[in-house]
Amino acid sequence: MPETRDILILGGTGQVGTELQAPALWGAGTRLHAPSRAALDVTDAAAIDAALAQRPYAAVVNAAAYTAVDRAESEIAAAWALNAVAPALLAAATARAGIPLVHVSTDYVFDGRTEAPCTPDTPVDPQSVYGASKAAGEIAVRSANPRHAILRTAWVVSPHRGNFVKTMLRLAAERERLSVVDDQHGSPTSAGDLAAGLAQIAQALARDPTAPTGTHHFVNAGATTWCGFARAIVAGAARRGGRSVPVDAIPTSAFPTPARRPAHSVLSTASLTAAYGLRPRPWAEALDDILDRLVGPERTTTETQA
Ligand code: NDP
Repeated sequence: MPETRDILILGGTGQVGTELQAPALWGAGTRLHAPSRAALDVTDAAAIDAALAQRPYAAVVNAAAYTAVDRAESEIAAAWALNAVAPALLAAATARAGIPLVHVSTDYVFDGRTEAPCTPDTPVDPQSVYGASKAAGEIAVRSANPRHAILRTAWVVSPHRGNFVKTMLRLAAERERLSVVDDQHGSPTSAGDLAAGLAQIAQALARDPTAPTGTHHFVNAGATTWCGFARAIVAGAARRGGRSVPVDAIPTSAFPTPARRPAHSVLSTASLTAAYGLRPRPWAEALDDILDRLVGPERTTTETQA
């Protein structure tokens, strides 16, 4: 009979947290627990301690975060509470309980000035409140719980909640043409693919005290700009019967936002492959799977013409 393992997932209503609850990602005998924010507020130290005392968790995966990048510029305390203080509390509590912690961070910890892909050793220099709060959360996790894995990711999309794919699909249905920034470079990432990686790492840490720890990057393979990504989304939707509208390239300066974003935040996944054998697939393939779920399967040429 397989051993039973309890895994605690935080942020279970989010893009990544929803995908983390797919039973197929976990071995037989795994019991997933994903309390809502109301049931477990990750900024509440006593609530975290009480949750961890309920059962001997084999691992905790933290996908809870303050992810409203622009709003964070004016809600600094809220962003830091969730992205810096909560990971500190979780890391300390899991360390006391002897549990590994798998935590998610972001490409926005980098300044984005160099074109070469960032490795986990590239110095961080966040340009926004969100990026700074996430960088502080990383430091807290590293310093409080040696049995941790931090996965930095970027441009996360999925069929769930609000995200770039869903926004582009809505705008393509509403407008005659779209304008999207073409001078920010990054790697779109499927929340489902990331969740599969997080689950594999959590299970490795849960069963093997010598499993690799540390900071790694998980993004789908390849790079594009937001404009390139938007064009792929519109083209993919059109192959599924959606409207095809032109997508015009604009500079970041034409679309000012409260938060500064890195111009180049392509992440190298080499250390992820070396540590865990994970090789994320190309972002365009992952996008196709998301569009299949959001729009439907691709149509044949005859169906499109009919
Ligand atoms: P979402 O914004 O989709 O989800 C955030 C989750 O955090 C929700 O489940 C939310 O619950 C939960 N949450 C918020 N406040 C609390 C609280 N006080 N206590 C408990 N839970 C809370 O995030 P994503 O899935 O997109 O992001 C997952 C991770 O990936 C985060 O660490 C994020 O920083 C990182 N990341 C995301 C990127 C992106 O493009 N989205 C890019 C790079 C990194 P509720 O439903 O109640 O609000």
